[in-house]
Amino acid sequence: VLPKVALVGRPNVGKSRLFNRICGGRDAIVHDKPGVTRDVMARDVDGRFTLLDTGGIGLPEKDAPSKIVQAVEEQVFVAVESSDLILLVVDGREGVVPLDEEIAARLRKNARCPVHIVANKCDNERVSDSVHEFNRLGFGEAIPVSAEHRVGIGQLFKTIHSNI
Ligand code: GDP
Ligand code: MG
Repeated sequence: VLPKVALVGRPNVGKSRLFNRICGGRDAIVHDKPGVTRDVMARDVDGRFTLLDTGGIGLPEKDAPSKIVQAVEEQVFVAVESSDLILLVVDGREGVVPLDEEIAARLRKNARCPVHIVANKCDNERVSDSVHEFNRLGFGEAIPVSAEHRVGIGQLFKTIHSNI
């Protein structure tokens, strides 16, 4: 059984895009291992680790903010229970928003594995240069990436490999 790497984060930061980028664009399978929620997408990458996209858990209907909070709480719970490395995905363009802080606080309290911040949507250098503000979430320097433009993915793989 491979080490598990979980993508966690509020809706719309690009977790699924990043999942597909890391997996090389192939289709994900739905995880069917006991104890893992069926809404978790999982895929083995290079025979080295299993990548989990927790973003589908408790996915709320549109315009249901309280359900979004509940959904991310469930994501964090599943990631904490089942992962060897957690990647907290944030939006590099938007900066820190309250829901990021909420997720980070839960991870600081409950995570038993390493947590790294991945700042997605760093489509250009101006955005990449602004990611220091994520330091205040308490997990060190964010890794700037752009799932869309395939920026920073090599660095992300290095971080994954050195933490599993
Ligand atoms: P999720 O809810 O976190 O899984 O987010 P999605 O993967 O569904 O992406 C949400 C939106 O962000 C989509 O419209 C994506 O096309 C867009 N997106 C994802 N990655 C990037 C990126 O690197 N740059 C930009 N500009 N948009 C992105
Ligand atoms: Mg998603």
